[in-house]
Amino acid sequence: MKKTTSPYVLKKKSKIHGMGLFAKGDIIKGTRIIEYVGEKITKAESDRRYQKALERRRNGNGKKGTVYIFTLNKRYDLDGDVSWNTARYINHSCDPNCDTENIRGHIWITSSRDIKKGEEISYNYGYDVDSWYDHPCRCGSRRCAGYIMSEERWPELKRKLLQIETARRLAGRPGRPTISPYITVRRSKIHGAGVFAKKDISADTIIIEYVGEKITKKESDRRYQIAWERAQGGNGEKGTVYIFTLDDKHDIDGDVPWNTAGFINHSCDPNCETDIIDGHIYIISIREIMKGEELSYNYGYDFESWQDHPCNCGAANCVGYILDEEHWPKLKRKLQQLKSRGRRQVTFKR
Ligand SMILES: [Zn+2]
Ligand SMILES: [Zn+2]
Repeated sequence: MKKTTSPYVLKKKSKIHGMGLFAKGDIIKGTRIIEYVGEKITKAESDRRYQKALERRRNGNGKKGTVYIFTLNKRYDLDGDVSWNTARYINHSCDPNCDTENIRGHIWITSSRDIKKGEEISYNYGYDVDSWYDHPCRCGSRRCAGYIMSEERWPELKRKLLQIETARRLAGRPGRPTISPYITVRRSKIHGAGVFAKKDISADTIIIEYVGEKITKKESDRRYQIAWERAQGGNGEKGTVYIFTLDDKHDIDGDVPWNTAGFINHSCDPNCETDIIDGHIYIISIREIMKGEELSYNYGYDFESWQDHPCNCGAANCVGYILDEEHWPKLKRKLQQLKSRGRRQVTFKR
């Protein structure tokens, strides 16, 4: 395919990111500058590509997690990640000089104001809040929101950034346990001490940071081994580990006295989840939590040695063991097998 060209722009190195498109001459407002072309794909194929990009980003092995997919209509999307789509070099800006327009199934980049010769062409990528922290913005404009996101989501973004700032400020360190305006620690019916809501907490609130000692994977393995041996000893010593995966190289061991979030219990019907944002682990509400409710998240344990972690969460859907939800079907099969084996033994004895 022949690369898209436009009389209005030329491609060169951008200060924002990689290459960019720049105005060849003055451009007046309302000019269709260049068409955004690509491969027309179904919504199903589009979902598949988003999923793949998400996995690439999660694996974090330096591969790009960027997608160039535009909504065309109810049935089709446009994937602009093709070599002939010159418009894919246009960078995002929080104070853009262009809009995207869908004109009878064609996506056009149109100037939203007069553009001076030499100015970099930009539009707002209009990203959703999903994994916003993976897209920091370097547009350099005075009204930069810090992340690539559609402007209508900015209030939400500001709220999140403020919550993170608060959580970071109140995060514990040696000699000073984490505090939080949202929570209090007291005895729990589930297990030992628990963390409870001091006030109503709305869904999707970044509540508290999970802090600890940053350790290498090797050290992490060593600590798992020690905990395992302790548990095998069976003399009532704890085999619990508080280790969180941070990235490819490091983990966080939350078994430190200043990690208040370490008191949060597991539940099979949790009201929180954990997420890693910019190298820090946070506990985030996944639904509205009422004052006095106990906070919980799914510890996400592996299937290995599931018997060692019975669950007392008391939720209606409790599976009886602390286990990542993805292993629940396997656990249910296992328990079923054990149950029927037990019955056979009884019959035999008789
Ligand atoms: Zn920006
Ligand atoms: Zn449970």
